[in-house]
Amino acid sequence: MRELGLIAPDFDSTNPESISTEDFIPVFRPYEATLEDLATVHDPAYIQKVLAMDAAGEGYFDRADTPAWKGVFRRAAMAVGGTLLAADLVGSGQAQHVFHPAGGLHHAKYDKASGFCIFNDIVIAIRRWQQKYGYQRVAVLDVDGHHGDGTQSLLYNEPLLTVSLHMYDGRFFPGTGSLEERGEEAGLGYAVNLPLPRFTSDQEYLEAFDLAVRVVEQYQPDALILQFGVDGHFSDRMVGLKLSTQVYEYISAQAHALAHRVCQGRLVVVGGGGYEPETVARCWAILMANLSNQTATLGPRYEALHDPIAELPLPNEKAIQEAQEMLRSVRKLFIKPHNLT
Ligand SMILES: [Zn+2]
Ligand SMILES: [Zn+2]
Repeated sequence: MRELGLIAPDFDSTNPESISTEDFIPVFRPYEATLEDLATVHDPAYIQKVLAMDAAGEGYFDRADTPAWKGVFRRAAMAVGGTLLAADLVGSGQAQHVFHPAGGLHHAKYDKASGFCIFNDIVIAIRRWQQKYGYQRVAVLDVDGHHGDGTQSLLYNEPLLTVSLHMYDGRFFPGTGSLEERGEEAGLGYAVNLPLPRFTSDQEYLEAFDLAVRVVEQYQPDALILQFGVDGHFSDRMVGLKLSTQVYEYISAQAHALAHRVCQGRLVVVGGGGYEPETVARCWAILMANLSNQTATLGPRYEALHDPIAELPLPNEKAIQEAQEMLRSVRKLFIKPHNLT
């Protein structure tokens, strides 16, 4: 992003005060979330357990994905603090859109870490918006290749919208995210899952994403969080989706336009998954160019962020059939008529 001129060339992450000028996207340094911030969402006993495991400096929070080490608590609390800062910048009107690459820890649950996620910064930021800014309706749009199970479980009984597009076959981590999971009690209908088959490529994904946008639009949120995990890209070996950078451009542009249409531009984007660093860098730059309306200004340098056409994966017939079937069900369940009021 520095090479593209989106952030200042002399950006020094140790001295963020030096970089805020009008010509560049301002950069803010995250702070550590407090115990009170974490307790707005997590079990106090679990927070103490994370502190204790940090002090011990060994073992795993879950079976084998999320290790404990000395300093892990601070790292996890910083990830939350960045998303809280983003929520405050948007809530106070200082910024319309904020991107926090280290956030998006969507697998973290009330009293449990999972899949590299210790504290759920997304839901903690939602609580900040509700408590400090009075937002009643918040939507989470989660495009990470894995189901946003922690976010969904924390909001399952509340009329707060979670929409997750992810690879699903009943076994793939975290194993949840079927069409049947739709929320409970006051939350019934507000958990929306778009489970996609392995090898889904751009066209079906974009159809699914358009449905997700329609659901958010019907909900009319006060603010929107986009979990922008890019591990669905075809180069990423953690997930079996076959998406190209065209999808991540589309998501960036459409989520940006959606936020302006429905919630005065209030949009926090958090990073989430993405395990192929070169791809992640290109996708994040595509996101930032779109959020700051600089795609045209960047011209060929923006175009160069996209995958070379020769490398694009071929569509998979079986995946197309399965995805189309799922989309028909989603249209029936959530679009005509939609039960969100
Ligand atoms: Zn993921
Ligand atoms: Zn904008």
